[in-house]
Amino acid sequence: MRTFETTLRHIITGAFLLFPFTFHLSPLHAQIGMQELGDSLTAWTGFSRVWSPPVRIKQMRVSGANVTLHTNATLKDVRWTPDNLAELKRKVSLWTLGHPNGKVTIYSSKTDIGTLVTECARLTAKRADNNGQTVKRAADLTDRQIVIYPSHGLYFNRDRQEWIWQRATLWTTVEDLYSQEYVRLIRQMLENAGATVLMPRAGLEQQQAGPSGMPQWTEGARYWLMTQGADSALWNLYDGNEYKDDMKCRAMWVNALNPAADLCLAFHTDGIDSGDDSTVIGTLAIYTEKDDDNHTVLRDGRDRAKTNRNLADWVQTQVTEDLRTIAPEWTRRQLKEANYCETRVPVVPSVILELLSHKNMADMKYGLDPNFRFTAARAVYKGILRYLNGPDATVQPLPVKELGINADGLLKWQAPADTLEPNAAPSYYMVYLQADGGEWDVQQVEKATQLQLNLKPGVRYNYYVVAANEGGLSFPSPVLSAYLNEKMVNDQMVLVVDAFNDSYGPEWFADSTYAGIVPDSYACENYFSCAYIGRQWDYTRANPWLNDDNCGWGACYRDHAGQITVGNTHDCAVLHGRVLRQMNISYTSCTAGMLQDLSDAQYRMLDIVCGRNRVPLTDDCRIQIKRLIDNGAKVMLSSDHFNAIDNAWAKQYFHASYYASHATHSGRVRGPEQKPYRLRMQPNEEQIFTPAPQALRPEADAVNWAKYEDMRCCAAVGTDKSLVFGFPLEAIREFDTLYRQAVEWLMKQ
Ligand SMILES: [Zn+2]
Repeated sequence: MRTFETTLRHIITGAFLLFPFTFHLSPLHAQIGMQELGDSLTAWTGFSRVWSPPVRIKQMRVSGANVTLHTNATLKDVRWTPDNLAELKRKVSLWTLGHPNGKVTIYSSKTDIGTLVTECARLTAKRADNNGQTVKRAADLTDRQIVIYPSHGLYFNRDRQEWIWQRATLWTTVEDLYSQEYVRLIRQMLENAGATVLMPRAGLEQQQAGPSGMPQWTEGARYWLMTQGADSALWNLYDGNEYKDDMKCRAMWVNALNPAADLCLAFHTDGIDSGDDSTVIGTLAIYTEKDDDNHTVLRDGRDRAKTNRNLADWVQTQVTEDLRTIAPEWTRRQLKEANYCETRVPVVPSVILELLSHKNMADMKYGLDPNFRFTAARAVYKGILRYLNGPDATVQPLPVKELGINADGLLKWQAPADTLEPNAAPSYYMVYLQADGGEWDVQQVEKATQLQLNLKPGVRYNYYVVAANEGGLSFPSPVLSAYLNEKMVNDQMVLVVDAFNDSYGPEWFADSTYAGIVPDSYACENYFSCAYIGRQWDYTRANPWLNDDNCGWGACYRDHAGQITVGNTHDCAVLHGRVLRQMNISYTSCTAGMLQDLSDAQYRMLDIVCGRNRVPLTDDCRIQIKRLIDNGAKVMLSSDHFNAIDNAWAKQYFHASYYASHATHSGRVRGPEQKPYRLRMQPNEEQIFTPAPQALRPEADAVNWAKYEDMRCCAAVGTDKSLVFGFPLEAIREFDTLYRQAVEWLMKQ
């Protein structure tokens, strides 16, 4: 692409050569200049040709120091700020007049682009000028009513007499369910800020089967509105075309809400393709200026174009900025005025967000990672918050990640830090406590990051912490657990260390012919996901999309659609503790980052849960573990990434080393006395699965404690002081039996 400066020089040189003594441009020159100028403006927008036409100059008028350009609609799609508007006007002046001080007016499809600077753009520019001086902060979203809905969903196609998806099934998901995955997070964040969130599609909690026989949350809005008893005039609109009904009924329902919603956001992903595996398509925001009757105002009298563009700008700006912290190449696409019923029909402010392209591999490499989705969802929540309450509104905190409770009942945690949002720091905490599986009690803690609890002997406690501030509540921390038996002898306790804090997307590969998700590689979801529908089977780049049942490159199976995939549930201490309680063994628990706080005491056993973590234990964590071993603790450790554990360290302390990956496909494991156990190895709704368990090698005096039946090699290595596993214990179907057998064995050594 020609650089801006080259073009500039070319135009200026041309102008001076032809008309050295005057800045007045002849019609002939204007013709030549218009093409060049269009190219320069196209380059300046940074828009990709894949999704945006080049800028075309339809008319250029130069009179004295005044320049007026009439262009096609492309420049309207730019996010205009006071700064970039002034910059472009200076440049156009320079290109056409030879100096930067002309009076430039640019129209894009009849709109003066000077009128397209949103309140969002003005406020964020002012905020930067303010140098951190804060404007009055609005508290939260209490009393706000927000409509947010996931796109599409199953619909009944009368021609085919079948329930079908509205979009293609690609990269292990389908937009109809993929959008639900984001919306459930956005919804929870908005509700944690106090807002009332309304949806025309069933939320994820609606597990019962709808008319399709699938869970209600998989179906389109038409059916949910019907089930909820909404007037058929809202959803029976197109004489049996249920696809079109489903598109339009959402906005019809929004308009029927009383009281009216504050805003409406339709969450979509796009279906375009960059043609390679590394170019991100990115985020598009769409709004509409006029309704079906050419009304230019919303029901409350505000200007549609200004209000809707402003909402779209807040959301798109926040999403792009936040995603660039994890995906620096993330693209901001157009801030686009376009005619779609989801934004045309509503009488309240509305926006369509096309977060990424579900057809494009480079987008989905990010989009299958639960951490990316959390960041994107949080950005949408923040965009809405700032649209409603201004740029300095307090953002709710991130979740507490590290916590622990010692044998004396002192619960401690670490304040979560949000590097993107200094004002998201917690100002207080809610501690949730459950005794013997009863109701959850909640206790509020001001500022401090600890709470002294009264742990009664013989009672089993579970607990977690929620951070809070003016902006609302965070998501919950991991759930930990503690139990003291009547004897209350500390050195007889077990310490369960929840070191499983990872979640991630699947692994990808690409060569010149094939590309996609590595077979047998799966995401490790954060808690769970509703978006996974089946594994990819078409890896051939050249295979084109023909229709939604012949999706080409990236196509996947659909056998898992409508099921939840369980991932890291952040409650392994509860699972392990339940069995320890049955054995009447005292225990307490902490996350890996809090081990230091608990390593003064003596323990009979450390149970280190690494789960599906890809990352090794930190050096500090290993120092604490050594300290506890030196104090007499035995160690149980489980991980399906044993190769990530320092080999020399594992050999020294556990007499075990990594041997081989993918050690079983059947999932069959034999424990001592030939006891049969079964590993979950596929996505499922019951418990975490382990797609690639690892075989270990016993060193020195160590014994082969369990073996994989397929590979006939070691699944667990035991010594008199340790027992380590090459798979996550939580993925065993017979977890209680295996864990009890392991604890009994290790304690007897
Ligand atoms: Zn869509």
